[in-house]
Amino acid sequence: MRIVIVGGGIVGAALAAQLLGRAEVVLLEAETQPGLGATSKATGGLRHQFSSPALVQLSLLSIPVYGAMPEAGFRQHGYLFVTADGNRLAAMREAVAMQQGLGVPARLLAPGEIAALVPGIRTDDLIGGTFCPWDGSANPTDALGAFLRRGVDIRLGCRVEGLLSGGGVRTTSGDIPADAVVVASGAWARDLLAAAGVDIPVGAYRRQVFVMTPPAGFPTGIPMTIDQDTGWYVHPERSGLLLFGGTDRDDRPGMEEVVDWDGLPRVLEAGTHRVPALSEAALVRGYAGVRALTPDDLPIVGPVPGRPGLWLSVGWGGHGFMHAPGGARVLADLLLRGTTDLLDASALSLERFSDPHRKGEQTAF
Ligand SMILES: Cc1cc2nc3c(=O)[nH]c(=O)nc-3n(C[C@H](O)[C@H](O)[C@H](O)COP(=O)(O)OP(=O)(O)OC[C@H]3O[C@@H](n4cnc5c(N)ncnc54)[C@H](O)[C@@H]3O)c2cc1C
Repeated sequence: MRIVIVGGGIVGAALAAQLLGRAEVVLLEAETQPGLGATSKATGGLRHQFSSPALVQLSLLSIPVYGAMPEAGFRQHGYLFVTADGNRLAAMREAVAMQQGLGVPARLLAPGEIAALVPGIRTDDLIGGTFCPWDGSANPTDALGAFLRRGVDIRLGCRVEGLLSGGGVRTTSGDIPADAVVVASGAWARDLLAAAGVDIPVGAYRRQVFVMTPPAGFPTGIPMTIDQDTGWYVHPERSGLLLFGGTDRDDRPGMEEVVDWDGLPRVLEAGTHRVPALSEAALVRGYAGVRALTPDDLPIVGPVPGRPGLWLSVGWGGHGFMHAPGGARVLADLLLRGTTDLLDASALSLERFSDPHRKGEQTAF
C-alpha cells in the first residue's frame, strides 16, 4: 500500500515513522526544512490532565514515547492547574475522577498544597487545583528530527497543490499517485481540502508566548502552572528561562505569526497577580504561532466519508505535539486494519460534527 502524507510537522512525521515497514510511505513538506509550522512554535508541554477521555487516552499512548526517546529531552515536572472559581473546581473534580479511572495519578489539591508546590504563589483567593506528576515537557523540534531519522522518506520543498481524483496528489514536483492520502498539514489543511470539496471545521488562531528571565532567587523546578481563571501559564524551560502565555486562547484568528504587543500587559497582570515575585521577571522576547482549533478541541483523525483513500490528521490545536505519537498509532490502525482498539475513534471522526446530539467541549488551552 502506498501512502502519501501531506505535511512534515510533528503529526506527519510521527505518522510516517509509525508506518515504517508496514506500508510504502512518502512524506511531503512544502518548506525546505521540516517542522517550520506550528511544531517550531510549540512550547513542548505534555499533560494527561484533560476533561475528555479521548485526549487523556492520547496522552497515555503518546507521552511514554517521548519518555523513551533520549533526543526529546523529556522532563517530568508536572502540571498544576489552579482556580478561584467554584464551577471550575467542580469541573476539575469531575475530570480528575475520569483521569484516575484511566490510571492517571492526577489529584485535587487544597490551597495549602498548591503553595508548597510553587513557592511565592498567591493562594489567598484560590479554592483549589489539580496536579499530575506524570505531566512534563519535551523538545518538539528534536523529537521531530528523531522520528525522521528512523528512515522516513521525506520530500522537502514539495508543496501539494491538489488531490488527484484517481488517488494521490498533484505537487510542485509532479503528480504522485497513491492508494491513500493523509492530510496532516496543520492550519493549512483547510484550504487544500476546500479546493477538493471537503469542508473541515478547523480554524487558525494565533497564540503568543513571552520569554522571560526569572527574578533572582526564583525557584527552579516548579511545575508548569496554569491559572484556569485567566488562562495564564508559566512554563519553566530547561534553560532556566520562563515562558508566559495563555491569556489569548482563541481571540486572534489568522495565519500571520505576528505578536500583538497590546497583549503583553494582560499576560503580565495575570502572572504577577498569581505569583507576585514575577513582577521582577524581565522580558527577553515574544513570538507567535498558529494553532488549528476545532470547535470541541479534539483533533480530526480518520477517513473522509464518501472520499475513498482520503484521510485526515488535523485540528490538533494546542496539543498536537504531545498527542502526535498516539494519533499516529490510532491512524495507522485505521489505515491498515480498518479499526482500532486503542480508543473510541468515533470521538475523533469528521462525522462527529454532523451529529446533532454531540456534546461540545472546551479544554483548558
Ligand atoms: C505558541 C504555541 C505553543 C504550543 N504549545 C504546545 C505544547 O506545549 N504542547 C503541545 O502538544 N502542542 C503545543 N502547541 C500546538 C502544536 O504546536 C501543534 O498542535 C502541532 O505542532 C501541530 O503539528 P502539525 O504537524 O499538525 O502542524 P504543523 O507543525 O503546522 O505542520 C504542518 C506542515 O504542513 C506543511 N504544509 C502545509 N501545507 C502544505 C502543502 N500544501 N504541501 C506540503 N506541505 C504543506 C507546513 O509547511 C508544515 O510544516 C503549541 C502551538 C503554538 C502555536
